[in-house]
Amino acid sequence: MSIDGRKEQIVLTPNNYWTSDMYQFKKFITRKALPFIFLLLPLGINAQTLRVDSTYFGANEYIEYLPGNLPLIFAASHGGYLTPASIPVRSCAGCVTVTDANTQELARMVREAVFRRTGCYPHLIINRLRRNRLDANRDIWEAALGNGEAEQAWRDYHAFIDSAKQTVVKKFNRGIFIDLHGHGHSIQRLELGYLLSGSTLRLADGSLNAPNVVMNSSIRKLSEDNRKKFTHAELLRGAFSLGAFLQKSGYAAVPSDADPAPRSGDDYFSGGYSTDRHGSVEGSNIDAIQIECNFQGVRDSEPSLYFFADALAASLMEYLKTHYFEGLPSCQTITPVVSAPEDAALQIFPNPGCGTYFMKHQLQSNEYADATIFDVSGKAVLKTSLASGVLELPPGQFPNGLYWMIARRMSGQPLRIPLLQQCMY
Ligand SMILES: [Zn+2]
Repeated sequence: MSIDGRKEQIVLTPNNYWTSDMYQFKKFITRKALPFIFLLLPLGINAQTLRVDSTYFGANEYIEYLPGNLPLIFAASHGGYLTPASIPVRSCAGCVTVTDANTQELARMVREAVFRRTGCYPHLIINRLRRNRLDANRDIWEAALGNGEAEQAWRDYHAFIDSAKQTVVKKFNRGIFIDLHGHGHSIQRLELGYLLSGSTLRLADGSLNAPNVVMNSSIRKLSEDNRKKFTHAELLRGAFSLGAFLQKSGYAAVPSDADPAPRSGDDYFSGGYSTDRHGSVEGSNIDAIQIECNFQGVRDSEPSLYFFADALAASLMEYLKTHYFEGLPSCQTITPVVSAPEDAALQIFPNPGCGTYFMKHQLQSNEYADATIFDVSGKAVLKTSLASGVLELPPGQFPNGLYWMIARRMSGQPLRIPLLQQCMY
């Protein structure tokens, strides 16, 4: 990252281009004017300028904000890589400095997955600083330990989330904030944090629905007002809970209908600073859920990240539709997903996609030695091996349209998988 001039720069920097308004904005906003930008944000002046196809940065480009047009906000505070010399390594009693591996990548993939499914974007705020320089999921003292640059990054991070929340409330009244993390606990399951401890979750449903528990929940607002009048306990671990939707997609989650509470002695993260600050526990209209992702099968490879990102996107959209909104905006007409059913022996993802596809199969490696890609006229255009798990269809060579992958089997009929190449840019 270049240092020259950057330190003097601006809070909001479109990544791709400048509109004339934004250019004037940039000229106006120097670092000295930083205190004022966050006065502007709550007035919504800035929200009208932000574009979902642009990227915005805080001071020194430590914090990145990708605006959205859905009532869904993601944040990733522990997946950063930047280690500027001007911010010392955090060191204090009890300070945690370990990075949540691949959570920045996961957050970006979830945003793209939501777009593929809906044509709309969720908001995304990323702390690009390594956690040993800034822990944005702590109060400012523990987060930055008094370093001015780190403190500014902390303020930028939460101001961008505040701005996203304000945009959501203005347009939809309600919404969800998802704080994405990765845990190193031995039990490989997603830990969904609602600010309720493991021992609280072990209470009977009736106790979870008591007002003194609901008032301390990060989904307090949803519990008080949801479309189908589900109770707090049902929202946490019923058949229509987020945990249940994720379980149904093949990802173990606690709490959920299958795993209603961590057992006594289990490691479990119940939600941290951001879930508390940005959720409805303080009375706002935005509910919050911390998602602590296990590593195996979720964050351990690029295909794992892609498949999980899609499952999380689908689960959250289902959650929004079930509990919050009868209908969500249609931002762009896109072709529906054409992939085979989720329990198919061979899956291709993303589908529709552009250029790079991941293949996931559940049979033994010798069952599908190779596969052939055919275009709609029936002409074989590519032979490939399933072993690598990755299929490349460079857009210049493979025009948009429908293709078929046909995989030979040791016995029985070959499998036919439709694949839609749909490059938008
Ligand atoms: Zn974390």
